[in-house]
Amino acid sequence: MHPCAHRSETPRVLAPYVRIGVQAQTLFLGFGSIRQAINDRRLWKPLVQLAHHHMTPRTRSEALAFLTQSCGVDGSLADAVMLTLERDSYLISAHSYDPADRYSRHALFYELSGAQADQVQQRLSQARVLLLGCGGIGNLVAAALATAGVGELTLVDSDRVELSNLTRQFLFAEADIDLPKAEVLARELRRRDSTCRIRSITGEVTDEESLDALPEADLVLVSADSPGLTDLVNAHCVTSGRVWLNTCYVNDIAVWGPLVIPGVTGCWDCRTLTARPPTDEPELRELITRVNGRYQAPSNGPVDMLASSLAALDVLRHLGGFGEPASLNRRMGVWTHELALDEQPVERSPDCTACAGVRPAVHRLRGAR
Ligand SMILES: [Zn+2]
Repeated sequence: MHPCAHRSETPRVLAPYVRIGVQAQTLFLGFGSIRQAINDRRLWKPLVQLAHHHMTPRTRSEALAFLTQSCGVDGSLADAVMLTLERDSYLISAHSYDPADRYSRHALFYELSGAQADQVQQRLSQARVLLLGCGGIGNLVAAALATAGVGELTLVDSDRVELSNLTRQFLFAEADIDLPKAEVLARELRRRDSTCRIRSITGEVTDEESLDALPEADLVLVSADSPGLTDLVNAHCVTSGRVWLNTCYVNDIAVWGPLVIPGVTGCWDCRTLTARPPTDEPELRELITRVNGRYQAPSNGPVDMLASSLAALDVLRHLGGFGEPASLNRRMGVWTHELALDEQPVERSPDCTACAGVRPAVHRLRGAR
């Protein structure tokens, strides 16, 4: 049962994202995840009349009276019409949408996802995110989070802006070349949402100590490719009970996940997720290491945009408590050349050297459904 059903005598209005259309003898109520196909033609007219009636906030009693008295529909047909419109997220609280509010369009998205927008926004405003890596993916993830109303962002990067970054690190301009990336990104984010508390740290995370020295956060997002960083962050987060997410690209694949909720989901070490040089063939290992040593990633703006947007959406889902993160217990990839979705399962392993025996922190259970 949708939570709205419990508030039936609270006036509710037809959500602005509900559109109705007829295609191939079927009436569709809503599109996307809320789409209902109505084939029973007897429902069409009263359903559309009721949807129209709900363009003004109405209580359930008012809606039922309208159906029976004004439309002449009663009995099981009236029940069917009422139930059809009360499903999913077609009706929302009258105060859920204020077009003038800066987060109003996102509020509709949260309502569409079955959550109460004001509560989601409140949770986001209290959330703190630590971002390691302010490059192509970091730029866009940070912009998505800051402008969505995340309360606090700490940006960490040791690099300076270079000319070859500008194909994908879209918040940097030619005039920013040679400036520290974390500082420039902080400047750009402040211009976009002055309510977000933004800190920038120009430095490198190389060991447990440097991770410990960073500010507290509810979620650590890794969008950097320093060798060993994911293992380091995983060990740190699993031990300290912090949620973390990795996002990157692997050549033409846009990758995000797993969203690691210590003690609840699988972690980076529960499964072998990446291919490495063999440990039992020294000669081969040496050659592979030399070949891989000359690797230069074919970084591409649109691929970075894809990875960053899917990662940002999962971060918002987890922190805001709406929908379900797509990267729970799995590492996801979009193969951009083939347009195929790739999934590496990362279920929790009882034998994991990093997270076996770790218990969930109660306040972090949200999002792990
Ligand atoms: Zn594990």
